[in-house]
Amino acid sequence: MVLFMTATVQGSATLAIAQHHFDRAAEQLDIAPAARPMLRQIKRELVVHFPVEMDDGGFRVFTGFRVQHNIARGPAKGGLRYHPAITLADARALAMYMTWKSAVVDLPFGGAKGGVIVDPKSLSVAERERLTRRFTTEISLLIGPERDIPAPDIGTGPQEMAWIMDTLSMHAGYSVPASVTGKPQAIGGSEGRHAAVGRGLTTVAVQALRDSGIDPAGATVAVQGFGQVGSSTANLLAAAGLRIVAVSDSRGGLYNGSGLDVDALMALKQEGGSFRDHVGAESLSNQELLALDVDLLVPAALEAQITAANASDVRARVIAEGANAAIDPDGDAVLQDRDVLIVPDILANTGGVVVSYFEWVQDLQQLFWGAGDVNGRLREVMVRSYDTVRSRAHSEHTTLREAAHQIAVAKVAAASEVRGIYP
Ligand code: NAD
Repeated sequence: MVLFMTATVQGSATLAIAQHHFDRAAEQLDIAPAARPMLRQIKRELVVHFPVEMDDGGFRVFTGFRVQHNIARGPAKGGLRYHPAITLADARALAMYMTWKSAVVDLPFGGAKGGVIVDPKSLSVAERERLTRRFTTEISLLIGPERDIPAPDIGTGPQEMAWIMDTLSMHAGYSVPASVTGKPQAIGGSEGRHAAVGRGLTTVAVQALRDSGIDPAGATVAVQGFGQVGSSTANLLAAAGLRIVAVSDSRGGLYNGSGLDVDALMALKQEGGSFRDHVGAESLSNQELLALDVDLLVPAALEAQITAANASDVRARVIAEGANAAIDPDGDAVLQDRDVLIVPDILANTGGVVVSYFEWVQDLQQLFWGAGDVNGRLREVMVRSYDTVRSRAHSEHTTLREAAHQIAVAKVAAASEVRGIYP
């Protein structure tokens, strides 16, 4: 047992988890102690407080940030989160995650993350637009196609990316589509971006089931979170022949042992409905969902969902982390003792950044690919990355999580070393 239970760093469990995994990888790779702070520290961060005019004519001051963890291997890349509970420390952690993700799937990017402390559901569309445009202007010191390229995360989506792209383009005086990814296709977004995380996750989860001796056809699945990641994952796993028996969102979930109609649930959500309006399934809590006896569990909501407090209740054979840091190190240790195969976040949910990379490349070249090309190339990257991580896990007699971190940290360390220290 790692005894991680109460650990937070600067009030963030996610940062404690991210640093824990880095420290282990640095130790296992025998990285010189003097070099470790360069890889562990945040390179650059900007905190902004800015006013936004509200619909009632008043003003509110919001706080946001953009954090770049490491840019040794290329421009910074990472999402923007609108959430009432996001903190600077969380953004630091998630920026570090982005560095490792880009490295593990071999994209020429560093890691970044940002966000605004706000409940986006409390804003009108006009308020969300004014907030996004002003926030973009505030962080325009850092972002741009060669420097730092934002993308969607919790609470943001294609519309926010369109406002960001338009704001940066207005400042430049010409269109700068490569400045953000996850945009609508009308302004340079890529085919396949919306479902990219789910598609990548489906590829590696199916492989992990096979590696565990489980036939994916008819294998049972529970998915926690039904946003961009959770819903597209449920949809694509169902299309691949798996049986989605449970899904949930922040208000609770649904269970049907014979399989849920994922298309109907997606349509319900798109119309603004609630799972409570769905007939033909039992309701269940998020904790009950995590404890279901299923072949595959996909936590795709928030960080630190499986910890020492509930890991021993988990009965899934395979877990693929849709959300970053969904399992903390104590939870990991419990699951490892029980031989649960875990496909870690920095591998499982990289489909989004992979297709974001494709989008950026297409925007820079002004040459656009068809859906078949995008999905085929994504599949290639995911299969290759999974194989590389699995081989290292076998050769080092370790978990997929440790192997993935070793691969990622080694690549960033090699880039930092060969670049040297300026001046
Ligand atoms: P989203 O805002 O689209 O969806 C989040 C979902 O989680 C919603 O259904 C929400 O109701 C649900 N949720 C919130 N709190 C919950 C709780 N306590 N229990 C159960 N469900 C809860 O966000 P998303 O883009 O789908 O991101 C989900 C996770 O995946 C995040 O951790 C994010 O960082 C990670 N991720 C996202 C991307 C991406 O491209 N969007 C890429 C990689 C990783």
